[in-house]
Amino acid sequence: MVLTAAVLAVVASGEAAPSSRSAPPLLEQVNGIRRQLGLQPLQADPVVRLVVERMAINDHTDRTPEVLEAQPDCAVCDIYFEAGLARDPRVHYHSLGGRSFIRFGLWRAGWTATQNLSVFFRTAALVLDPRARTFTTARTPLGMLVVGVTGDSGTAFTRPVRWPLGRLDPRHQLWVQVLLSPGQGYPHLYDVREGRDVTVAYPLAAARGLGGSRLVAFGLNTSLAYNREYHLGTSTLLRLRTRAMPFGFMQRSWTFHSVEPAERAVFLDAVRRAPAQLRTLLGELDAAVDVVGGSEACISVDACEEVEGDRAKVGIATAATRAVILHELGHVVFDLALDERGRRAFRSAFIRTGWRNAPYVPPGEQFADQVEHWALGEASDDPRWLQRAELERLLREHAAYRPLSARGLLPR
Ligand SMILES: [Zn+2]
Repeated sequence: MVLTAAVLAVVASGEAAPSSRSAPPLLEQVNGIRRQLGLQPLQADPVVRLVVERMAINDHTDRTPEVLEAQPDCAVCDIYFEAGLARDPRVHYHSLGGRSFIRFGLWRAGWTATQNLSVFFRTAALVLDPRARTFTTARTPLGMLVVGVTGDSGTAFTRPVRWPLGRLDPRHQLWVQVLLSPGQGYPHLYDVREGRDVTVAYPLAAARGLGGSRLVAFGLNTSLAYNREYHLGTSTLLRLRTRAMPFGFMQRSWTFHSVEPAERAVFLDAVRRAPAQLRTLLGELDAAVDVVGGSEACISVDACEEVEGDRAKVGIATAATRAVILHELGHVVFDLALDERGRRAFRSAFIRTGWRNAPYVPPGEQFADQVEHWALGEASDDPRWLQRAELERLLREHAAYRPLSARGLLPR
């Protein structure tokens, strides 16, 4: 399963992934991607070829990355060793008469351009540059490709370049890469919550490109909600939207295991009688929830909840009441619908209102109690509870299903 997800994840651009047998030459694939982005096609460069071939022959270190999280460096790209001497490939290029910007990166032989772009950020920064003019590769003894890209310093580069195009898919390993012109800093991915820009993702990687440009890549290290607008840096720099929730996921509902009809009825009744806002939210989450009864449920308590991967499991015993079920559904919301930012917002709000147990009780427990209290329509002046309106507002701002992005092994 993990492997399938990884293969899907690297083919993130929405274009068909050519199989290696029928794939056009790499340069043609690169130019297909550049055309989509409105960028000038590249050509191979005979002078750069002399340089990358020497680098490649002497690269006995760089191996193919094994996991999605890998951010492969390049052992030979800045300095390589030949006959015991350190050589700077840029100096070599200029000594052969080369006059352009030049930088080097790695790709993996046998992978498509799309797969390589999804993994090798340093090289992506070169290949996606509007000023790039040539693209030349040479194969290393360990099955990698040394890539040399030259660029034209006279060409203007003002607007950021993003790849892949289209809506971001929160389940992919890579959401987006953005190449920024020199001087744009190190932007984060922001969401607007309660009227303010909040950081939802730091770049997974930032790589220097040609002449001071910088590529930032987002994905993997946090989660995004479906069908939501995010922005990069200031909101005018780049707006990005995530795709709608997949239809198949939306269609699915709770998955019951070993649950007797009577228990199931109590469970579904608790959901049906919940406030409309909670019902709507649970409608987004239910496809990711297993409800387990009988002897497979919790060991010592009448209900429990835990997360395994991107699914939540709720255990309910025959005796579980509506209140107990609502409490466990509160845990489901906390685990599947809140990111770190949202969890912190709730914790701060609880403390502000007068929740004194913050040092001893995990915020998820207080949150589950609060959801239960709210869903049962209980009223109380106890400072432990947020007012209904405040709870509902915070849920509106922060809660949405956030699938995990792909993790695991890269295809072999
Ligand atoms: Zn609990």
